Amino acid sequence: MYRLVEFYTSGYVEADVVESVASSLRRALGLEVRLAGSLTIPDELLDSSRRQYLAEPIARLVFNYKSEGAAGLLVADVDAYVPGLNFVFGLAVPRLGVATIYLRRLRLWTDRTNYVERVVKEVLHELGHVFGLRHCGTRDCVMSFSNSVFEVDRKSRAFCRSCALKLGKLGIEVSAEFVI
Ligand SMILES: [Zn+2]
Ligand SMILES: [Zn+2]
Repeated sequence: MYRLVEFYTSGYVEADVVESVASSLRRALGLEVRLAGSLTIPDELLDSSRRQYLAEPIARLVFNYKSEGAAGLLVADVDAYVPGLNFVFGLAVPRLGVATIYLRRLRLWTDRTNYVERVVKEVLHELGHVFGLRHCGTRDCVMSFSNSVFEVDRKSRAFCRSCALKLGKLGIEVSAEFVI
């Protein structure tokens, strides 16, 4: 199981977002977080007709950057999608050990404090997938599926007991502060 997360950014990612994500991962899951710098998403990954990037090749890009044995996390200032969906807030590819988060839509219709909170929730959610969790039917659980920013706002940043227990069995101890 991953103990280290290499945290990449792309484009303009606010300093308080970087700080909150890194500190939340350390506190919630006891992970070591290494700020790994900025990476450039190549223009070929832009679908110009939609003005959105393709999320799956971006995950492969992060996989190519990250160290073996570390999970890779990318927070990117772009809008992205996977074929069949209008957009994604994030995409995890567990077999690559990669989680990606896209900020453009998370910034909409809210204040700064709640925006940062949304990013933290989506990072915990996508890394939860990387660690082997599936979507959860408990509405407050951070592993519940969100189709809109309002659904992101409605869930908490914490894991339900069942998801926390699963993570514990996988070797990731969830701190009490991040269990509902
Ligand atoms: Zn999900
Ligand atoms: Zn859950």
